[in-house]
Amino acid sequence: MSVTDNLIKIRSTLPDSVKLVAVSKFHPEDSIIEVYNAGQRIFGESKVQEITRKFENLPKDIVWHFIGHLQSNKVKYIAPFIELIHSVDSKSLLMEIQKQAAKNNRVIKCLLQIHIASEDSKFGFDENEVLNLLNDPDFNQFKNIKICGLMGMATFTDNQLQIRNEFKRLKSIFENLKKDYFGNDADFCEISIGMSDDYTIAIEEGSTLVRVGSSIFGIRNY
Ligand SMILES: *Cc1c(COP(=O)(O)O)cnc(C)c1O
Repeated sequence: MSVTDNLIKIRSTLPDSVKLVAVSKFHPEDSIIEVYNAGQRIFGESKVQEITRKFENLPKDIVWHFIGHLQSNKVKYIAPFIELIHSVDSKSLLMEIQKQAAKNNRVIKCLLQIHIASEDSKFGFDENEVLNLLNDPDFNQFKNIKICGLMGMATFTDNQLQIRNEFKRLKSIFENLKKDYFGNDADFCEISIGMSDDYTIAIEEGSTLVRVGSSIFGIRNY
């Protein structure tokens, strides 16, 4: 099957409430164009150098999402064009995003990455850390940042029940934060969960943004 066939097949399974982020990391610009020509506009990347190069070379109506671990000293390269950063995992990173967004006269949308997997290798806040952040007086000074929701990655496992429970946990943290901190804020609405192997479970558990790479583009050559 071609990448276009893969895209169409996946799209046909998504409810209207779920947006597809086509994760194009490590794939060539030609493949992105193929998927773009089939109507896809949101693309996700996880390396600053790669997303910046692709942004420069590819059509300007592509909506770029950053999904990988982001180092503060590299925010400046993506701040002029990035639409949504899924992977915000520290206050210091938020401070740098604020600084660079202001410099570019933009508001940058961000998701707070929550650590839900059992592996400790994955980045993200735990529930207490995110509460500390939201209670921090500095949090209200991020005028050029729009917090739009949460992102999480489930454990890399075949245990579907475990994956489902991790997504349920993220959803429940989302609901609590929405109630206690974002009550009147309609923009706090995104739950970014689900990758190639688990996006159907994620959708059942309330995903609004699925990040699908290999099921569209095939395996990555790192
Ligand atoms: C690479 C990546 C994906 C896509 O993974 P696939 O299994 O290829 O669908 C999704 N989210 C994040 C954060 C990633 O780094």
